[in-house]
Amino acid sequence: MVPDLHNYRGRLAPSPTGFLHLGHARTFWVAAQRARSAGGKLVLRNDDLDAARFRLDFVDAMLEDLRWLGLAWEEGPDIGGPHAPYNQRDRRPHYRTALEKLHAAGLIFPCTHTRKDVLDAIGAPHEGAGDDEPVYPASFRPPADAPLPPLSDTISVNWRFRVPHGEELQFTDRCSGPQRAVAGRDFGDFLVWRKDDAPSYQLSCAVDDAAMQITEVVRGADLIRSTFRQLLLLRALGLPAPVYYHCPLMTDDRGERLAKRHDALSLRTLRAQGVTTEEIVAKFAASEP
Ligand code: GLU
Repeated sequence: MVPDLHNYRGRLAPSPTGFLHLGHARTFWVAAQRARSAGGKLVLRNDDLDAARFRLDFVDAMLEDLRWLGLAWEEGPDIGGPHAPYNQRDRRPHYRTALEKLHAAGLIFPCTHTRKDVLDAIGAPHEGAGDDEPVYPASFRPPADAPLPPLSDTISVNWRFRVPHGEELQFTDRCSGPQRAVAGRDFGDFLVWRKDDAPSYQLSCAVDDAAMQITEVVRGADLIRSTFRQLLLLRALGLPAPVYYHCPLMTDDRGERLAKRHDALSLRTLRAQGVTTEEIVAKFAASEP
């Protein structure tokens, strides 16, 4: 479907936690194509909040790989723009303000349960529990009328968003069609701030997509579940929601999902083997959703 949005603003939001692999690169290429065909703008946002996996050399490599692929952006950490800063590490005040709003509205609660506690409570296996957050058990929630402790300046406990249990949420994905999920069943109370004092991906992403006036989010289909969480956050914060275009994930010859750990398929490796930009782009164009 050709994007027909007025004043289209799209974004590339890579995480500098490894070298860009073919699967991610394809999603970014689709995002860039959609922005171009809509005559819109593309923003590069550096999703560098993951302190444990972040490396500065990955940021440089990521920008270089994207340029090598022929992608260009109108706003980003390397060129600035009206919505700077574009590194999430430098945007903490935005996330903190959002957290305080959610707190004032009584929509979040502190949680001392570990991931292991959650997995035990729902009887889920600890290994291979998937890359999505396990559904937080309702029995772990404090009562809705329990007094909320204040937010400390430095946060040392996990804070979760209280999802509207039983509410059916829907959106129409511009690539994958109508999507539905029931809050509390398909996903549960999710993290908005972590006990190591870092905002969660869900919160930072929702806040930034709105702050940077993104009109269409193009990303991998593995994030569809997260979209429901982000739509709830945007609603709670009174912020406009973009439309979404979730691309099917690229698979290898055996039908397995490409992941960053498949180093053989990083753009760097392919490049070192003599594969050209044109060959990669031709492959992407042939597999365009
Ligand atoms: N930074 C995320 C990633 O590289 C993508 C986030 C998003 O597109 O919302 O997987």
